[in-house]
Amino acid sequence: MRRLRNVKIVATLGPASSDYDTIRALFEAGADVFRLNMSHGTHDDIRARHAIIRRIESDTGRPIGILADLQGPKLRVGVFAAGAEDLVEGQPFRLDLDPASGDAGRVQLPHPEIFAALVPGAALLVNDGKIRLRVETCGADFADCTVTVGGTISNRKGVNVPDVVLPVAALSDKDRRDLDFACDLGVDWLALSFVQRAEDVTEARELARGRAAILSKIEKPAAVHAFAEILAVSDGIMVARGDLGVELPVQAVPPIQKRLVRGARAAAKPVIVATQMLESMIESPMPTRAEVSDVAAAIYEGADAVMLSAESAAGRFPIEAVRTMHNVAVSVERDPTYRDVIEASRSARRQTVADGIVAAGREIAETTDIKAICCFSQTGTTVGLVSREKPRVPILALTPLIQTARRLCLTWGTHCVLAPEQERFKGAVIAAVRAALAEGFAVETDHVLVIAGVPFNVTGSTNILRVAPCDERLIFRAEPQ
Ligand code: PGA
Ligand code: MN
Repeated sequence: MRRLRNVKIVATLGPASSDYDTIRALFEAGADVFRLNMSHGTHDDIRARHAIIRRIESDTGRPIGILADLQGPKLRVGVFAAGAEDLVEGQPFRLDLDPASGDAGRVQLPHPEIFAALVPGAALLVNDGKIRLRVETCGADFADCTVTVGGTISNRKGVNVPDVVLPVAALSDKDRRDLDFACDLGVDWLALSFVQRAEDVTEARELARGRAAILSKIEKPAAVHAFAEILAVSDGIMVARGDLGVELPVQAVPPIQKRLVRGARAAAKPVIVATQMLESMIESPMPTRAEVSDVAAAIYEGADAVMLSAESAAGRFPIEAVRTMHNVAVSVERDPTYRDVIEASRSARRQTVADGIVAAGREIAETTDIKAICCFSQTGTTVGLVSREKPRVPILALTPLIQTARRLCLTWGTHCVLAPEQERFKGAVIAAVRAALAEGFAVETDHVLVIAGVPFNVTGSTNILRVAPCDERLIFRAEPQ
């Protein structure tokens, strides 16, 4: 099963997408990676969704990425007896530590450290800034507020406090429990919310002990400032525009998005553009023109992946939302201007043998009739370098490790297959050719390019590039005995 586009699609699972048939339909419509949001749902919910994804993976024979998104020090209100309430401008609303279900007059905010730091006059933003509260009076366990911008507040909606510096740790106790749970379950990526500094990332990496790759969500002003250091210690990046646009003025987000996407590409690490991409599709089967343009813009910028949040987790049209992203991607990637933009933004840094090999590989593949760039990789690092080149020719990644295949589901343009461990380059060429034929990239009269490192199974040894005929008899004939 080949996707006829390069950019990847991440779909968040939730109540609207938790049974086998729906998740399978999301996968078939184009979702490459599923996000399990640890902020919502119990461990049992997460475990059930994880099991369904792995079943779909074995039923379809395609690796599927799973990203567990840790809540991080995100502040959230408690729950409401009625599930939701309408807050009206000018009316009072109280936040407190009482775990009892909320109503139209109050709700729990289970963060004593916030009450300690709040001051009268501070703004509290709820539900991605849609609702605004102004603190009138506050104490150690409550804040009496006035609603300054009304709207519907519902269970566990997020709260941002941009005016107050909050002394919060990078990983809460819940995050540590969730991290271990997710790693034991076997997820491919761990997303860290509200990262503020590089140490937050290294701390999570130590706890993960290699069981999952680490993706840093950039959603705090501090993370934007420390982006270079955070990128250096992360395996991937998410431009988390939801909280970013609450913590900073919304108009600050597009330039930051561009900078982050470029930075991640230069580092050959996958970057996801996330949040509100097709927001109106929560309720409508048709996106707005502006949303379509937003998805397209992220793809033109060179993002590895675009993401659906509530659209696929809780919306009425999850499958249509994935299909819309897929259609936008196909349309953009067919546009000659897209190629111009992507090529103009290719970074010129060529410092290692591997950089040189992949750059030469792209040149050869694009100037001759090569059907696929076949790349052997243990950790996926070389595939990342090939992907950074954003070649016109499809990338066929081969790895003996299912974990690597799954992680690469997030990487632009890669179609990953499992191939047995190789000892000699000749065997690798044969495996590459067989995969290219079996996966529909080439026919026997075609040629493919093979990139590998010899000795095999040594990370970072990328040093061979070979143009190979897809007819196995010709490979044997061409090979020196
Ligand atoms: P969230 O992260 O959906 O977990 O809040 C993404 C964002 O803030 O954009
Ligand atoms: Mn967020």
